[in-house]
Amino acid sequence: MVDAVPGRLTLITGPSGVGKGTLVAQLLAKHPEIWLSISATTRSPRAGEVDGQHYFFLSRETFEQQVTAGGFLEWAEFAGNLYGTPRKPVEDSLALGRPVLLEIELEGARQVRQSFPAGFQVFLKPPSFEELERRIRGRGTDSEEAISKRLGRARIELEAEGEFDAALVNGDLATALVELERLMGL
Ligand code: 5GP
Repeated sequence: MVDAVPGRLTLITGPSGVGKGTLVAQLLAKHPEIWLSISATTRSPRAGEVDGQHYFFLSRETFEQQVTAGGFLEWAEFAGNLYGTPRKPVEDSLALGRPVLLEIELEGARQVRQSFPAGFQVFLKPPSFEELERRIRGRGTDSEEAISKRLGRARIELEAEGEFDAALVNGDLATALVELERLMGL
């Protein structure tokens, strides 16, 4: 296991519902120097989600045009929707020496590993699969179909833990935050 060097690209992945978003929000609140990439998606906004803040919400057509134009650093299909990391803002932030953070799913993480082999990739995992299911259902925002797609994908993603520079259990949030800061050298 290697620890991160401050200033480089860090990526957090892990199954849907594991709590990546909450952990990342807490990390950013404590470390405002970190720049979080805002992804594009074809998914519809959830209640409270703001375009340009949580995601750039795009039509499938616009998303596909941007794929063709090479506008994404990585992109993947997840539970029936497309998600991608806009390339330019990441490259600009890195060029300015700002630490960059990506929070994305497994297929995208694998693509970033190819393009940024020096990046630091953290796998966030739940204490158990049952706990993950409880969290995904507890969110109460997704249809039964979307929930079962997410659970199916989560089983596959959990097997990928060994590919990552570090694995972190998100049982207690405060503990996970301290451990993530340590891994990132913050
Ligand atoms: P959600 O629909 O719950 O916001 O996100 C579903 C999954 O897509 C999550 O695992 C999230 O990390 C991932 N995701 C969000 N943005 C991106 C992105 O830009 N690229 C990829 N590959 N995955 C993303």
